[in-house]
Amino acid sequence: MDALICPTCDSTLVKRNGHLHNHQCKACQRQFVEHPANIAASAEQKRLIGKLLLERISLGASAGWST
Ligand SMILES: [Zn+2]
Repeated sequence: MDALICPTCDSTLVKRNGHLHNHQCKACQRQFVEHPANIAASAEQKRLIGKLLLERISLGASAGWST
């Protein structure tokens, strides 16, 4: 489940405000976007993981998969 915490008042009374990653805190009425930096980072991580997997596969192939 989403455990969203308001960055302004640390309240967990946060509701999703429509679409995207936009949220509103019921306690202080503040609207905020959920961790935009983390979202970008996870997209970058996925690319890195894919790249690492490809490198591992090519390393394994050059080692001959001798099992
Ligand atoms: Zn708040």
